[in-house]
Amino acid sequence: MHSKWLHPADQLIAIMRRIYERGLTTTSGGNLSIRDDNGDIWITPSGIDKGSLTRADIMQVKPDGTVIGLHTPSVELPFHAHVYRIRPDLRAVLHAHPPTLVAYSLARMIPDTRLNASAALTCGEIAMAAYEVPGSEKLGDNIALWFEKGYNTVMMENHGCVIGAKDIFEAYKVFETLDSAGRLEMGARKVGTPAPLTPEQIAAAAKAEETAWAPLPEEAPSSEELAYRRDLCAFVKRCYRQGLFTASQGVYAQRLSDGGFLVTPKGMDACDVSEEDIVRVRGNACEVGKTPAREARLIQAVFAVQPETGSIAISMAPAVMAFAAAHEPLDSRTIPESYIQLRRVGRAPFLATCEDPEGLAKRFDEHTPVIIVDNECAIVTGGNLLKAFDRLEVLDYSARSVVATKDIGPLVRISDQEVRDIEVAFNLM
Ligand SMILES: [Zn+2]
Repeated sequence: MHSKWLHPADQLIAIMRRIYERGLTTTSGGNLSIRDDNGDIWITPSGIDKGSLTRADIMQVKPDGTVIGLHTPSVELPFHAHVYRIRPDLRAVLHAHPPTLVAYSLARMIPDTRLNASAALTCGEIAMAAYEVPGSEKLGDNIALWFEKGYNTVMMENHGCVIGAKDIFEAYKVFETLDSAGRLEMGARKVGTPAPLTPEQIAAAAKAEETAWAPLPEEAPSSEELAYRRDLCAFVKRCYRQGLFTASQGVYAQRLSDGGFLVTPKGMDACDVSEEDIVRVRGNACEVGKTPAREARLIQAVFAVQPETGSIAISMAPAVMAFAAAHEPLDSRTIPESYIQLRRVGRAPFLATCEDPEGLAKRFDEHTPVIIVDNECAIVTGGNLLKAFDRLEVLDYSARSVVATKDIGPLVRISDQEVRDIEVAFNLM
């Protein structure tokens, strides 16, 4: 979404709808604001159904305190205003009470974003503000204290979280990533012992983000390419709807018959990708003015050595990443569907995607179509876009089932003989 052309009221409606539809707020909880160039604060109203906000419901508060609009501004206006006063660089504030982050606020803990490199880089340092009565100046003080120290993300004791950013889309991205990181940690604690990344490893991940590509000479897209751009966008959005991608995480690629491939861009918001955002890569070059996802080198290496692979999806879905964060293998011998789709799920060390893309690419084959990289991601290959998607969905469901089993009793795996029977019945030998 190109926020620069959207009125603040429309931005707030779009993001509030997204938060509500994603299950990250109740209809009465949470509030958002934007500060515009005039110093006006546009903020969601108090006591209005968050599921059906319209442009007319958004309130405008002038720098002199004059309120314009049909309702009263959110009861949390004091802390929004306080954050803007002390941090002129911030233009949007997001506050909500999603169940996962509330659980952390009740336990007075901060989600450990160091369990996943991408979450650590997206969320940055996080603080915890002391409890106070909602809407009070004192709560504003407790939150502002941390923003003054340079924090942009603050958990609130027995309440929720508040995020400040350069715009509301960026605030949402951090918010959704933090919620996902919380679910990841909860899963990792069930499957084993979470192994957080060191500051040096996080710095190495940040460095790996920088890859240089030569400019690809401009050429008209073929009909094949146009069809794949369209289908790639459809599958990316489907991955978002199914919780396999987030506003900051997820990569999808499709091989082209001319030896190149299409891949989603770096920094993609999976909810909002369009055909023109997709990046064409061939050899050492990519489309001018675009940056492919950091994993493009790995994707290129996989397409080079695995002729059966037509499409690749890379996900950081929380249940799958729970295994990556605890450095535990994900055994696919759970239900027949899992074994048939996933076969033997491979494992690779942190940053293998960029430090050894060729070596990692060679590890994929018909018996190993999926590899989970420690503290990083899951790479899923498939013959085409649908097959990669199907396999990713099965991977996520399988991981969620194993994590859920930990709540109720020991997991009984399919025996070796039963595995052989599946291999014979489904011709997997
Ligand atoms: Zn609240």
